[in-house]
Amino acid sequence: MRIAILSRGPALYSTRRLKEAAELRGHEVHIIDTLHCYMDITSSKPAVRYDGEELPYFDAVIPRIGASITFYGTSVVRQFEMMGTFVVNESVAISRSRDKLRSLQLLSRKGIGLPRTGFANKPDNIKDLIRNVGGAPVVIKLLEGTQGIGVVLAETPKTAEAMIEAFMGLKANILVQEFIKEAGGADIRCLVVGGRVIAAMKRQGAEGEFRSNLHRGGSAELVRLTKEERATAVDAAKIMGLNVCGVDVLRATRGPVVMEVNSSPGLEGIEYATGKDVAGMIIEFIEKNARPHRTKTRGKG
Ligand code: ADP
Repeated sequence: MRIAILSRGPALYSTRRLKEAAELRGHEVHIIDTLHCYMDITSSKPAVRYDGEELPYFDAVIPRIGASITFYGTSVVRQFEMMGTFVVNESVAISRSRDKLRSLQLLSRKGIGLPRTGFANKPDNIKDLIRNVGGAPVVIKLLEGTQGIGVVLAETPKTAEAMIEAFMGLKANILVQEFIKEAGGADIRCLVVGGRVIAAMKRQGAEGEFRSNLHRGGSAELVRLTKEERATAVDAAKIMGLNVCGVDVLRATRGPVVMEVNSSPGLEGIEYATGKDVAGMIIEFIEKNARPHRTKTRGKG
């Protein structure tokens, strides 16, 4: 097969591994810089152009769209869908997953376990917003944040109020969330591919840190999931409409709660922690599923 990886960084671990795994299985791989693609959307025959030429036909496209280029990146993915190309994750699903509130709304509609979460634009009663998620301590998150930046823990009602006021003063979109203390600074990343959890790791935050992000000095190890955790991750991926994703789960006393679903999960941490060939399993999924005109939305979303 001829496979394109839409990625800004050919040297990034995940991009390199996907290329390597595909080539090992006999496929031709092109790494395409998403931002350098341009499109003719006026013609009836949609195409993607790159450096003066029309791109060749691809049997599959693997989008690795960074959060900072979601808008342009999803329009490139959509263009491939319009051409009937099989894309591993569809543009609509990627956009959905990038909006934390929209994701939580979709997941809550289907009864997935979630931390109690509130969001507001200009609440006249901040105290009530805090009380409504169970009171302090609460976690406050900037909607645009990634890799744990913009996620803070407010231990007392007074700090929570002050922080919310400060963020609102900056006109930042935030959400206020119940603090899952019993998670003990750890979370679980479940890698879902084609409706199955193929690898899972537990990430533990550094000493004294409630955020478990590896970028924040956390460490990762292989973990055995409970049946409920496995089912939760699979359901969350399905609701979001993502074939390949990372579902982040916290172990709450009442059961697993989903924090986030990531449509371009990094492969480095999870391959190291689990010793699994995650890239190879993604390519295997493509081999089994890539057919032309198989995308659900075909660019309509
Ligand atoms: P980002 O998308 O920036 O990584 P997250 O929402 O995943 O932000 O939060 C970063 C980390 O903070 C999580 O991996 C988790 O360890 C911790 N965390 C986030 N929300 C909560 C919460 N409600 N309760 C307990 N810990 C949390």
